[in-house]
Amino acid sequence: MKKTLLSLITLAVAGFASADVNVYSYRQEFLVKPIFDKFTQQTGIKVNTIFLKKGLAERIKREGKDSPADVIMTVDISRLQELVNMDIVQNITSPTIEKNIPAKFRGDKWLALTTRARAVYSSKDRVGKLAEDFDYLDLAKPEWKGKICTRSGKHPYNLSLIASVIAHHGKEKAKTWLQGVKANLARKPQGNDRKQVKAIKEGICDVSLGNSYYFGKMITNEKHPEQQEWAASVYINFPNQNSTGTHMNVSGIALAKSSPNKAEAMQLVDFLTGDEAQAMYAEVNFEYPVKPGVKASELVSSWGTFKQDDISVLKIAEHYAEATKLVDEVKFDL
Ligand code: FE
Repeated sequence: MKKTLLSLITLAVAGFASADVNVYSYRQEFLVKPIFDKFTQQTGIKVNTIFLKKGLAERIKREGKDSPADVIMTVDISRLQELVNMDIVQNITSPTIEKNIPAKFRGDKWLALTTRARAVYSSKDRVGKLAEDFDYLDLAKPEWKGKICTRSGKHPYNLSLIASVIAHHGKEKAKTWLQGVKANLARKPQGNDRKQVKAIKEGICDVSLGNSYYFGKMITNEKHPEQQEWAASVYINFPNQNSTGTHMNVSGIALAKSSPNKAEAMQLVDFLTGDEAQAMYAEVNFEYPVKPGVKASELVSSWGTFKQDDISVLKIAEHYAEATKLVDEVKFDL
């Protein structure tokens, strides 16, 4: 009798102690929900999610100390670093994070959960697979005159690539390069990464810059089967295999400064860096896991293994402002 009462009390206390985790997410529901469900199954901790398309950082800033946000999930090095600049996140570390996530994919206040390559797509008919030693720098060579398509130079995906070129080669060389790429554009930068592959299919250009996961999203697109045809018209290429390695961007996670449920939030973060979550999270968006040893999905693996740029995400973030200025200076988007 006594024992039953005690366990009832223990249960009640445990029930009370296990708070929910509140996630503010720029990532879409279909990407994160299956993993959160797994986490809840394993820990009993419920995950509440707010999905936003914009204004996430501003909202947390506005909510201030009373913000219910525990963790923030978003994509791109610059957007993660913006959370730091806005002073709405706190230091995030744990033995699990240190064990699972390579240092080059971590800041003090955020860490990457998946990576994506800034690939170069090439026309199957008119170009074929790019040479093994193809380099981003080659995009400035005269042979590509009028043949390159890309989205805006100001888009974070391109800014991050340009920042990495600055980090590796210095500002002057990066500027000459960007001028060369601009001179080779088939049309004014416009649209998203997928639209550039569409333009290759339509013969508007021969090569384009695009994130690797879009290849998977197009190949498997049943809602818009025309995208399967766009994808079928190109090869995916991973540049810089004989130099610095392919530029990688990230999706990541940060711990809100005023996180009301920090212990539970850290349990979630640790979970997301583990083998099971890493494989699941990467697979659902055709990305690469960050944790070494966890395999990408079968489709993504079929695109081949390649050397990734070893540079730290923080080094890239350091050159982001310069990259933005370069885009203006060479009038890339005009
Ligand atoms: Fe994207």
